[in-house]
Amino acid sequence: MENIEKLGDRELYAKCQLYGSNARQWAKKFAALLPEVDKRQLYKKHGFYSIFEFAAKLAGMGRETVVDILWVARKLQDKPILKAQMEEQGWAKLRVVANVATIENQKILAEKVKIMSKPTLETFIKELRQQNHELVQSRPGTAKKHETLAISQNAMSGEVPTPPRISVRIPLKPKTELRLRELQKKLSKMAHGPVDFNEVLETLLDTYAAVKTGALEAKEEQAQSLSQLEEIAKEKEQRLQQFEAQAKEKVYKLANSPPSRHIPAVIKKFLSAKFKGRCAYKGCMKLPKIFHHTRRFALNQSHNPDFLMPLCKEHERLAHLGLIDNEEKTPDFWRTQIFPNTNSPKYTIDKIVNSYRGAVCALGG
Ligand SMILES: [Zn+2]
Repeated sequence: MENIEKLGDRELYAKCQLYGSNARQWAKKFAALLPEVDKRQLYKKHGFYSIFEFAAKLAGMGRETVVDILWVARKLQDKPILKAQMEEQGWAKLRVVANVATIENQKILAEKVKIMSKPTLETFIKELRQQNHELVQSRPGTAKKHETLAISQNAMSGEVPTPPRISVRIPLKPKTELRLRELQKKLSKMAHGPVDFNEVLETLLDTYAAVKTGALEAKEEQAQSLSQLEEIAKEKEQRLQQFEAQAKEKVYKLANSPPSRHIPAVIKKFLSAKFKGRCAYKGCMKLPKIFHHTRRFALNQSHNPDFLMPLCKEHERLAHLGLIDNEEKTPDFWRTQIFPNTNSPKYTIDKIVNSYRGAVCALGG
């Protein structure tokens, strides 16, 4: 047996990735067996009182997980194409589609389960439901559970902040805390190293100062009447427009300079202000992870901000799967679609991007 203490950081991390990925794969395989074990009541033959005891003792699997797995299996019992994916794709992904799956749409859904990660699949289904797309019949009260789950998982994976210079205790709403942590993660990624809450708050303050509405906010608080408030709102809008106009000029100049893959910081800043620091997809409140070229950079070497959109990871994946219709128009016109437009030259580019990402995923990157 190898001495773990002697491993370098890289090796130790690589081992964690490998073992973690193996653990997840085997948990999926085990989960896929449970519905059949339950059907046969096989656990009784081996001295277990229930399927829950069976799963806990054999695989350390919690009760709630078992309930979910059996629920998914029940939902999919008459949808063999999806049911067959249980072992390879995992019950958690199938749970996302279980409520909208029908005998008729199972083939299309199975294809999406195969090519999308769980969060992308969740986003895809959510958008279709919001559009009342015929592929999915909206059944209220089913998406909620998954959303809460995703949030609590994210909250748990947030980094522990380093000790602040001055201790301030702020009772935050869970949603605010989550947003701060998401921003912290994003900034850390950009800085290629951990960023503490102090820096997160500084960035927020800087952004605020950049918009130059601070004084107006104070006025707003002291306003006595509705008309005063309206006036302030008007002034605020004007200042924002001024700020945007100045930034725009700078940005468009840069966008037309000789192309490099690197998007200039000023363009990114401009877009962040334009979309208020959010993903550009309508109604998406997530923080953007990537600046997406709606006219692919490979086809059109330009960072024209009209065709550059800050997107969260999930919406960016949908875009590269060719599933956002009208993507070159403003986000108001975007629609999530079921199949990509295979005639578009973008389709070829996207296929290359996706296959590259697939290879990276397979390597555990
Ligand atoms: Zn989004």
